[in-house]
Amino acid sequence: MQKNLTPNMTRRVAREKDTVSKMITLYCHARHGSDGALCTDCAALRDYALDRIDRCMFQPDKPACGRCPVHCYQPEMRARIREVMRYAGPRMLFRHPIAAAHHLAHTISKPSEKVRRVADIRLSRE
Ligand SMILES: [Zn+2]
Repeated sequence: MQKNLTPNMTRRVAREKDTVSKMITLYCHARHGSDGALCTDCAALRDYALDRIDRCMFQPDKPACGRCPVHCYQPEMRARIREVMRYAGPRMLFRHPIAAAHHLAHTISKPSEKVRRVADIRLSRE
């Protein structure tokens, strides 16, 4: 269990996990014809994504993954999750509008001090 989590932040992390699970489900049902349970590959991707969120260095105030200055995914998993996002992103608005709205709010929210520090270090090295 992590220290210093405010109820708001734990709720956001729980919601983020729920959203990524929903997106993978949308994608898997449409692309892989799964019904109910995910196919093996997508189940592995979901477990991986949830695990990345748990291990995120910016917890408890993590940025939305798409805005993160650190790429913590392995290249193959990153390619797969990007494909899922590309497919499910626009569809989330219709299927899960509340989750989509929360995700948008999170995406445009001001990054934490730690995120900005890491982003600055990255920029100055490039
Ligand atoms: Zn699948």
